[in-house]
Order: sequence, then C-alpha cells, then structure tokens
Amino acid sequence: MDTQVEPTAAGHEYDLPPMRLTVLGATGSVGQSAIDIVLRNPGRFDVVAVVANSNAEELAILARKTSAKLAVVAREECLGQLRDALAGSGIEAAAGEAAVLDAAARPTDMVIGAIVGAAGLKPTLAAVAQGNSVALANKECLVSAGALFMAEVRRSGTTLLPVDSEHSAIFQVFENGNAEQIEKIILTASGGPFRTMPLDAMHKVTPAQALKHPNWDMGSRITIDSATMMNKGFEVIEAFHLFQIGQDQLEVLVHPQSAVHGLVQYRDGSLLAQLGSPDMRTPIAHCLAWPKRMSVPVERLDLAKIGSLTFEAPDQVRFPALRLALEAMKRGGGATTILNAADEVAVAAFLAGQIGFMDIPAVVESCLEALDARHGGRELMDVDDVLAVDAEARKTCGQWIAGR
Ligand code: NDP
Repeated sequence: MDTQVEPTAAGHEYDLPPMRLTVLGATGSVGQSAIDIVLRNPGRFDVVAVVANSNAEELAILARKTSAKLAVVAREECLGQLRDALAGSGIEAAAGEAAVLDAAARPTDMVIGAIVGAAGLKPTLAAVAQGNSVALANKECLVSAGALFMAEVRRSGTTLLPVDSEHSAIFQVFENGNAEQIEKIILTASGGPFRTMPLDAMHKVTPAQALKHPNWDMGSRITIDSATMMNKGFEVIEAFHLFQIGQDQLEVLVHPQSAVHGLVQYRDGSLLAQLGSPDMRTPIAHCLAWPKRMSVPVERLDLAKIGSLTFEAPDQVRFPALRLALEAMKRGGGATTILNAADEVAVAAFLAGQIGFMDIPAVVESCLEALDARHGGRELMDVDDVLAVDAEARKTCGQWIAGR
C-alpha cells in the first residue's frame, strides 16, 4: 500500500479525541492499512510503538513517517539495520521477544494486533493484560487460545474490537441488548480463486495461482488460507469466542462479490447485514473511531454497478479445510491449537514448493488425528501449555512433510 498519502479531505474529524496508538505487525498488509489512516489524519494519532519481525528498513520508514516513539523488530539480528535506518531520528530502537512484549504493554489507547500467526499470541496478550484496548486482526490468538485469551480480556476489563472484516460487520449489527434474541450469525466467504474449480484441477494449483485472491489484497498466509477456505473455518472459531454464541448458531455463506461481510439473524426473522468495499481500512477505521465513525477514502460500494449479489452454500468436499476447522472447533481444547499450528506449517511448505495445494488439508488432518488423543478436547491450562501443543504440532507436521 502506498503510504505517501494526503490528509483526509474532510480535514475535521468532528469531536474524535487524540489517540495514542501502537501497531503490532506494522509492516504487514493490515499494519500498513492502519498506518495509511494515521497519515491521513495528522494530529489525531500519537504513535507509541511500531513492531515487525525482520523488515527493519520498512519499519524504520513507517516509524519516521508516523513519528513513532519506539520501533521494535522481533529478530535480534535485525537490530543493527533498524538502528542504522533510524539514525538521527530520535526514535528508540529495540529487538527481541522481550522488547516486543514491552512495546505491546506500553500504555496506549489502542493496540492494533496485526502480527501474523501464533507469533502474535504473547504480544497481543501482553497488550490485553496491561489493559490496553485491542483492535484484533490476529485471529490466531482466538484459534490457538480462544478460551484463555477471552478469559484474559474479561479479567483485565479491556476493550476488544474486531478488525477482521466479517467480525467487524457482525459487531456492527450485533444488538448487545438483544443477544439472546439472535438465531444465527452468518459469515460470508468470497470462495477464493478456486470456488468453481473441479477437484482434479485443484490438486495442480501452484502458489502463484493461490496467491491471487479475486477481491482482497492480503498477506501471503491468509491469502492461501482463503484459497483453501481454512481462513473461513478460523473465522467461525474466532466468531465463537468473540460473540460467545452457540457453535450451531454459526453459519458460512459463499458470496463471491465480497460486498456483504457478515449478517445477524434475529428471532423476528430480521436479517441485519453490513456492506462495504473489500478494503481493510473500513474495519480498521471502525475500531479507531468506535463508538463514533471517521472518514476513510475507500471506494464506495456501487450496488447498481455490481448489479446482483449472489450466495451459495460452501462445498466442504472440495474445501476439506473448512470441515476440519469446524470439527476442531467442536472437539475443542487443544484441537484448534493443533489446527492453527499445522496449517501454518503446511502453508509455508506449500509456498516453498514442498507440498501440493490439496496436501495442506491432508497435513492438517493427519496432524489432528495424530495428536487428538493427547490434546484434542483437553482444556489448555495457560499460554505455555498452548505453545507446547503448538510446538508439538509443528514437529509432527514437519515429520509428515519430510516423510512423503
Ligand atoms: P502480513 O504477512 O502482511 O504481515 C504480517 C506482519 O506480522 C508483518 O508486519 C510481520 O513483520 C509481522 N510479524 C510476523 N512475525 C512476527 C513476529 N514473530 N514478531 C513480530 N512481528 C511479526 O499479514 P497480514 O497483515 O495479512 O495479516 C496479519 C493478521 O491479520 C493475520 O493474523 C491475518 O489473519 C489477519 N487478517 C488479515 C487481513 C488482511 O486483509 N490482510 C484481514 C483480516 C485479518 P515483517 O514484515 O518484518 O515480516
């Protein structure tokens, strides 16, 4: 995303108060969308910290543009590069896991949790434990450790707002005073690039094909997860924890136009939906202005131009990843931790050309089966327990991939 942006034309954001902001995963797709909003609203945001893994050059550019107080890379070997790139700016530079946790826990008004993968769990939890409000993009926190994460949110009394577009949509039409009147929550899915591809052809899909999402521009892991529909399974698990609703009240509906992002059906038959262009700046801005709204220059949805909105049931035969995620959610406990870790390893192996596209759900399924007796359905005690199960699942998958 181009971060050479102009201030928002409206120039006045009503009575929105100034906000201290920390961005975890600042160099990523969600992180850069958040920074785009910061740069369009000079004077509103005071950036406390920006965090990345190893992309020190880009992080330094973003830190300078936003006048951040602190920039942190998780990889210690990148500290020298970060220091060089920040020389003369007065911006503090740091590296390593402890520095990432410190950045997440520094007092601020909001932390954007946009690290990818299970690596985001500890930093996001550190922000929650400190009582910093969190705008959550890192769905892996809820897939890997949903019960523990939500318990910490309740304990700290912090505000948790969803960044994921489907959950933001649902949040916007979820009547808190009427939660018991909800019949079901529907998450829409574009269906990805292979929605209509025959199963035979799906076995031959290349990384380049799978990285071309028809509607959304996202990081590589979530783009592949969207192509397998594992992402939609993750999102159902995310919704289960966020909205504290029965698993049988969660539904997935394929909607190729990606205009309707989520729906809530009430007992009186009303179906409330949120619509918008597929641009993450809308749900991010929703978090940054909540409970108010702010101007964002996203393309407006032109319903007349779209013409028709279509919906269809998902195909769990061609997309077994969705079935696996729903089964893991039902199994509960460590099953979803294994699901996420196995998928992270399988996606990385697919992108590295080590396994085929349809091997991704096969790896995940074999890992779930192998570790089910030990961890499936077992409530995990704490973050160390989660990370131990995560590590075991990664090892099991690595062996499966190496042994093919
Ligand atoms: P990207 O791959 O584009 O970016 C990932 C970010 O995380 C980068 O800033 C990366 O730093 C950083 N990172 C990775 N590992 C670590 C680590 N160990 N410590 C600190 N930072 C780390 O991902 P996305 O922006 O696409 O996705 C981020 C999260 O948001 C994911 O959980 C995804 O599922 C979720 N999400 C994304 C959406 C999207 O539109 N992209 C939509 C909804 C949810 P570096 O650049 O240095 O590698």
